[in-house]
Amino acid sequence: MQINSLTLVGFRNYREQTLAFDPACNVIHGENAQGKTNLLEAIVYLSCGKSPRTRSDRELITFDGQQARITGKIFSRDREFVTDITLQAGRRRKMTVNGVAAKNAAELSDVLHTVFFCPEDLFLIREGAAARRKFMDQSLCRRRFLDTAICQLRPRYAQALAEYHRLYEHKTRILRDREDNPGLLAMLPDFNERMCRVGAILIYYRARYCRALEGYAAPAHEDCSGGREKLTLGYETVKTVLDPFAKTEDIAQNLREHQESHYHAELASGLCLSGPHKDDFIVEVNGRSARQFCSQGQVRTAALSLKLADREIHRSAVGEYPVMLLDDVLSELDPKRQEYVLNRISGGQVFITCCENDRLDRLQAGRLFHIQNGEVLL
Ligand code: ATP
Ligand code: MG
Repeated sequence: MQINSLTLVGFRNYREQTLAFDPACNVIHGENAQGKTNLLEAIVYLSCGKSPRTRSDRELITFDGQQARITGKIFSRDREFVTDITLQAGRRRKMTVNGVAAKNAAELSDVLHTVFFCPEDLFLIREGAAARRKFMDQSLCRRRFLDTAICQLRPRYAQALAEYHRLYEHKTRILRDREDNPGLLAMLPDFNERMCRVGAILIYYRARYCRALEGYAAPAHEDCSGGREKLTLGYETVKTVLDPFAKTEDIAQNLREHQESHYHAELASGLCLSGPHKDDFIVEVNGRSARQFCSQGQVRTAALSLKLADREIHRSAVGEYPVMLLDDVLSELDPKRQEYVLNRISGGQVFITCCENDRLDRLQAGRLFHIQNGEVLL
């Protein structure tokens, strides 16, 4: 799939701008704060009705305006589509696909799909200083990445995940409130059993997704690093699950064992200690933990490789490449790795933003856009 043109009216710092894109590579460059990320944000919004940067649609409307409009001409499933979104201050947004009102954001994703890389994705690999200081759960970022990707591909997983979240919250409330209300404890066994069954479904899919992720990320990383680095990725789940590729009934049994051995600890702490809500994956480069030992360029290469793998998995499931959006991916990469990003991400449409122009002489094909203050300079 590809986006052939985009029109932005009153969106962030874009007054009115139409851009026609290259089917393969589009490089958007300009100084800081000119609108490069805003442009990618608009494309993400076209694909899922959500901004990756804010929950508030009001922020997307130009400061002094009342309305923002995003229109994309998209080619996918061998057809042309026009997706049109109007955001209005204080009113419901309007979304149409080929002139027909879209009931929900899923209808937008049927037409256009994007994989977005932004600097925060580096936390898929390394720990942020803020996270270390605040003792934040860094694995959350990786779990979200897995969950978002698998939900898009497998409706059964999305259902199971939503149910697991509900069960988890209920169980947490039971554990927390049981001293004031001891009768609640009678409900615990049912919740535990259901969490084991649903948790087994999550593990089943996550294990397979991680295997596919490694299968595609490893060659991308190797290629980008000029054959010097080998990336491996391991899925980590509940300790008693020795084979996450086993049948879900067997995984559920493993989860029951873990659950039982943590029963008293859960009561004592008032916390849910057993289950796949703490799952994680570990990335290694040349056999060493990427989180601990990778340089900045290596971290960026590894994070990019995961996103490229996500794109490949999507293609093998859907039959078309999603549009790849790479925000500020080139900084910290050496010339050879930059050359890989600019010229050797093959198949599918790619958008790359960057600040300096000097590295752009490495671009062999595609279209360049110089953005200044929300306008494209010709
Ligand atoms: P950098 O290289 O620093 O990442 P960028 O080109 O990606 O810069 P953007 O994040 O796209 O910059 O933002 C460009 C400008 O858009 C910012 O100066 C910001 O103040 C402005 N901006 C953000 N929201 C709005 C809005 N609702 N209305 C008008 N301008 C906005
Ligand atoms: Mg930016």
